Amino acid sequence: MKGLLTDLSFEELENTIVNLGEQKFRAKQLWSWLVKGAEFAQMSNMPKGFLDKLSQEYYAQGVEIYGEYKSQKDGTVKYLYRLNDGNIIEGVLMKYKYGNTLCVSTQVGCRMNCAFCASGLDGLIRNLTAGEILGQVIAVNARNSDGSDRGVTNIVLMGSGEPLDNYDNVCKFLTLVSAENGLNISKRNISLSTCGLCDKIRQLADDGYTPTMTISLHAPNDEMRKSIMPIAKRYSIDDIIKAVKYYFDKTGRRIIFEYSMIAGKNDSEDCARQLASVVKGLACHINLIPLNFVKERGLDGSNKKSIYKFMSLLEKQGVSVTVRRSMGSDIDGACGQLRRKVINNEDN
Ligand code: SAH
Repeated sequence: MKGLLTDLSFEELENTIVNLGEQKFRAKQLWSWLVKGAEFAQMSNMPKGFLDKLSQEYYAQGVEIYGEYKSQKDGTVKYLYRLNDGNIIEGVLMKYKYGNTLCVSTQVGCRMNCAFCASGLDGLIRNLTAGEILGQVIAVNARNSDGSDRGVTNIVLMGSGEPLDNYDNVCKFLTLVSAENGLNISKRNISLSTCGLCDKIRQLADDGYTPTMTISLHAPNDEMRKSIMPIAKRYSIDDIIKAVKYYFDKTGRRIIFEYSMIAGKNDSEDCARQLASVVKGLACHINLIPLNFVKERGLDGSNKKSIYKFMSLLEKQGVSVTVRRSMGSDIDGACGQLRRKVINNEDN
């Protein structure tokens, strides 16, 4: 199996080039082509013999845009990507006044199997490499490189997959994407969303990474959380609170909790009160997410009225809370939905 050049750091690229008998300065040229999304054939200032040698052992790019769906409502763009082994993943580009946020996937499929999520329906198929996570950003930038747009400025690791279940590749991605001579995306503009793998949350802080930590909580007590998220059998809400306190103390980054609102399940007034007491005293913010309907899961989202009532109950308790704007809902914006639709169609 061929390697992937976008998996390499600049130093690793230099070593690779020297080992192939080429001069070190070529690394800079090659690197600048790679971050622009170029294939070997486009690398016009590089010796042909060297590119031939390189292409026998490596792919230049790991991610190709395979489909693009623009929301008519809000300009959100959903992308389908094809990986070199034929697997399909997806991502979403959301345009805000302050910049363009790309939601990236970290795995093909997911092991976590949350009750409402489309990504876990087939289990984990495989981890993405660092270069494949980076490749999503590279491909979207290349697609929008006509100068009319400023490219990706913010990243959320919130697509399909559990980022902390692919720890090493995700850490390498975090390093690569913020490399000054590469894509140079500010570390402050990167968020990571996790179902709450507490040991890895601590390890991330210990290893010096500082993405905004977003926790998918979705329930105010362990019993209910276990019935929605299998991972709750391994880590209690109390474990999560301790881990995020540790993360906050080490990184100074505020914690965000995500709470997807499921009709008749986690949206009662009592749930709001319990939730307020869970987060009491933490430097955090709660994002209420209107649940996107996933056919195979069959769970309904709460209606607007109960979401806003829930929000005002939290506010009364002094909790910082917003309802997430549901972007791109007309183009299957929620995790894993679009990929499934395409795969199901191809299967039929
Ligand atoms: N595994 C990570 C990141 C991927 S999911 C995590 O659990 O955080 C990103 C966010 O989308 C999570 O908060 C997840 O719970 C939420 N999500 C997944 N499916 C959804 C759906 N159908 N409707 C609303 N939110 C959903």
